[in-house]
Amino acid sequence: MPATPAWPPSSLPRLYVEAPLAQGAAIQLEAGPANYLANVLRLRAGAEVKLFDDRSGEWLAEVVETGRKKISLAVTAHLRPREPVPDLWLLFAPIKRGRIDWLVEKATELGVARIVPVLTERTVVERLNLERLRAHSIEAAEQCERTALPQLAEPVRIDALLSQWPLERQLYFADESGGPPLASAVQAGPAALLIGPEGGFTDAERSAIGSLKQAQPVSLGPRILRADTAAVAAVSLWMAAAGDWSDAPRRKRDGSIAD
Ligand code: SAM
Repeated sequence: MPATPAWPPSSLPRLYVEAPLAQGAAIQLEAGPANYLANVLRLRAGAEVKLFDDRSGEWLAEVVETGRKKISLAVTAHLRPREPVPDLWLLFAPIKRGRIDWLVEKATELGVARIVPVLTERTVVERLNLERLRAHSIEAAEQCERTALPQLAEPVRIDALLSQWPLERQLYFADESGGPPLASAVQAGPAALLIGPEGGFTDAERSAIGSLKQAQPVSLGPRILRADTAAVAAVSLWMAAAGDWSDAPRRKRDGSIAD
């Protein structure tokens, strides 16, 4: 007996929309998203897509009308609520353009709640195009089936960050000069991971971080990792130990969630 095909098919196009979604809502898409659905995927009236708005979860919508520069959709069904997001912040000293885009994409896929660029003494990149980074984060969320977008914060200087540190949040700072392995240091509760610049933290920064009661230096192993590698390794270790990887749903071959 052939297996009942998943509904809706996980292969449906999936888009983030700013507009609030609700049963029966009429959604107009223009520019990039409209071009993607109408001209790249060549969707026509009656075709289905999945939408999410970072507030109410994921919805099914049907194409009502396609124009050259815009497309109209009608929301037909609520598929699932906005997922709970593991309470993890990723703080990192900005790195070169291509690699920072990659890092934001990976941090989104891995499930972080907040992404914070931190300006340190040896940070080489000061100016960031947050709009471009947000676009990368949205695209990653569309692909990895997140219904919640990570917050992308404005860059902050490390001294300002430390002076306003929230009491309840543990700060694991990745310190290549040593510390307990992150995997064994992780405790449950709100957390943040701090990754230094390619040139590393200065001694003054290291002692300022170390003087924070919630701060714990941690090691990511014996080798000196590049900053983007260190960030992905650290987030993965935290997600496996205290995040939502242990309760990941079992998926069938067609990508849908198994009963
Ligand atoms: N300062 C270092 C140097 O040039 O000798 C390298 C800095 S490393 C390229 C960039 C950042 O990645 C570090 O500041 C640290 O936060 C993190 N990192 C890299 N390897 C690490 C390790 N083995 N343990 C903990 N953190 C590490």
